[in-house]
Amino acid sequence: MAEKLMILGSGPAGWTAAIYAARANLNPVVLEGGHIPGDLPGGQLMLTTEVENFPGFPEGVDGQELMHFFRKQAQRFEVRIEEYTGADSVDLSKYPFIVNDSNGKTWESHALIIATGATANWLGLESEQYFRKKGLGVTACATCDGAFPRFRDQPVAVIGGGDSAMEEATYVTKFSNPVYIVHRRDSFRASKIMGERALTNPRIKPVWNSTVEEVLGNDTEGVTGVRLRNVQTSEVSDLPVRGVFLSIGHTPNTGFLKGQLELDAKGYIVLKNPAGSQTSVEGVFAAGDVADSTYRQAITAAGMGCRSAIDAERWLAARGID
Ligand code: NAP
Repeated sequence: MAEKLMILGSGPAGWTAAIYAARANLNPVVLEGGHIPGDLPGGQLMLTTEVENFPGFPEGVDGQELMHFFRKQAQRFEVRIEEYTGADSVDLSKYPFIVNDSNGKTWESHALIIATGATANWLGLESEQYFRKKGLGVTACATCDGAFPRFRDQPVAVIGGGDSAMEEATYVTKFSNPVYIVHRRDSFRASKIMGERALTNPRIKPVWNSTVEEVLGNDTEGVTGVRLRNVQTSEVSDLPVRGVFLSIGHTPNTGFLKGQLELDAKGYIVLKNPAGSQTSVEGVFAAGDVADSTYRQAITAAGMGCRSAIDAERWLAARGID
């Protein structure tokens, strides 16, 4: 028998949708992703150490602990949780919808909330992943981690040349000095106004035409520098920094939706009304980073999760499925 409502994803958006849907007696099922080697359920917060900007935790909260709280709260309302290996394909062309995971398991549901998130892009260097996993100075979210004591009054590097890099670099100047923006070309991709704002900030120093070859450091001090290669001269040099903030874009986790749902040029789900959660297919709702390339915060994702559950509830009620 088809489920009433399934929620794909178990980050802040998915769990918030689940809590609201369960309290509305929709008996939702959460497909909790991440059950594959090397991956974790719970979304990007599972990769963060301390979260200081999620309201309700005056002393801050560990990212993994916060996701544990979200999950526990959903379980209190008897949300059913199914482990899956990530959605492999969906059929949204008829009702009820079909979801297949990569282990060949299949589900049917009258309504769907897609909250599969986005993944920060990384350079893919071994040293980058080493210091990232140990929480020793490499992160992909300056807004989340820039205020940590380890970066205070220290030189740091933001990698990237888009609007996010400009925004993150400007933000970390509140704490760190100088803030290098290491970019692989000789001009920014960012909008003119944001690029200029960054370049006129006395704490920001651009490092043009450069790519990161290696993140330098050790287990005691954490990150101590980056090894750069100038792409024009091939010259290699070491830049002393105590933090590395990657800002080279995100990839929304929507590969399994191609051809089923309207996505934008970068793969994000297009919402019919940006202040709502309805996608191009009636009965399919989206919440969190999978449909938001702008804010990408745990709190905004949670807010979108709430909206999506309310929208799903109304949609199901209008069809007599309640
Ligand atoms: P983005 O615009 O795609 O920029 C990514 C940057 O990372 C580019 O400069 C790119 O270099 C660089 N990059 C990509 N892969 C790299 C690699 N392997 N090594 C080194 N550098 C690499 O992404 P974004 O800045 O996250 O922005 C995403 C979207 O959100 C954009 O549409 C942006 O306008 C929007 N946004 C808006 C605001 C705002 O208006 N307040 C704030 C943030 C983001 P190249 O330039 O050489 O390709």
